[in-house]
Amino acid sequence: MTEPLFDRIAIVGLGLIGSSIARGVKARGLARRVAGYDVSPEVRARASALGFCDEVAETPQAAVTQASLVVLAVPVGATAAAVKALAPHLARGSILTEVGSVKAAVIRQVLAELPEHAVFVPGHPIAGTEHSGPDAGFAELFEGRWCILTPCERSSEEAVAKVTALWRGLGSAVEIMTPEHHDIVLAITSHIPHLIAFNIVGTAADVEEVTQSEVIKFSAGGFRDFTRIAASDPVMWRDVFLNNKEAVLEMLGRFSEDLAALQRMIRWDDGEALLELFTRTRAIRRGIIDAGQDTQAADFGRPHGHED
Ligand code: NAP
Repeated sequence: MTEPLFDRIAIVGLGLIGSSIARGVKARGLARRVAGYDVSPEVRARASALGFCDEVAETPQAAVTQASLVVLAVPVGATAAAVKALAPHLARGSILTEVGSVKAAVIRQVLAELPEHAVFVPGHPIAGTEHSGPDAGFAELFEGRWCILTPCERSSEEAVAKVTALWRGLGSAVEIMTPEHHDIVLAITSHIPHLIAFNIVGTAADVEEVTQSEVIKFSAGGFRDFTRIAASDPVMWRDVFLNNKEAVLEMLGRFSEDLAALQRMIRWDDGEALLELFTRTRAIRRGIIDAGQDTQAADFGRPHGHED
């Protein structure tokens, strides 16, 4: 049996991501003990009942004081409050990491509170489902997925190596990039697609000529996949857009220009241009399948195989 990577891991925020990390760490023996804390008493009670942590603490202090690794897994908008509550209690030499879907804004908030005697490794697992809360987590969530780490001025090389080992232990492949690059890449691959889904589902609900029962009845025509994405956690997505404003607005500008070009192609019966674009996009889809990134495992709001 190999030695666990960590003596004691504390996970703050026991929803989909936090509880999946706890479950994965336990299942793969990556730490001797896993402590958990959540601001919500209901979530704490549920986490205790589900038993994916060795102990569920009643305060952030009790969870983190003896931990060599602290994983913050709260909504992006709750980062500042959560870090303020736990930072003074971080153990000397401990590593703080987190999983927020936005990096630059989260890093700013964490660095404002991080004590001198701890280091910080920001991260983002590219895995999730449209479900949230402690019941939604499962140990295999990160298997075969990417986790992006975006080291900052308070990340030591040793800490980055340890957090990399954690994600590899959970079954993910790790890629390193700057926080700014992460925010642009995720704006186009995740944030804008979600925005489009929220928008189209909202528009369909407001189209007066089409009844709601028709929308539901004929949803297999393409709409159904959008509804799945648009069912993602409202708090999480509000926080993503408010905290990745610049990159999202930049990508949205480009998207709107391209949409206007498509509008022109249709108006001027430019079938050749439409065909050229649709052929190009079909090739991109093939590339994703070839890269093994189109799996049932829940990314981009797709439900996990055993949940649907
Ligand atoms: P979630 O299921 O809603 O879980 C978040 C938990 O954190 C909730 O139980 C919440 O309690 C708790 N919380 C809020 N403020 C807190 C605080 N100050 N201290 C301790 N706990 C607090 O959300 P999630 O999907 O796991 O997302 C967590 C993070 O992972 C987010 O930053 C998100 O951007 C990122 N992420 C999500 C996905 C995804 O697909 N879901 C993928 C990758 C990364 P309340 O419910 O009472 O507020």
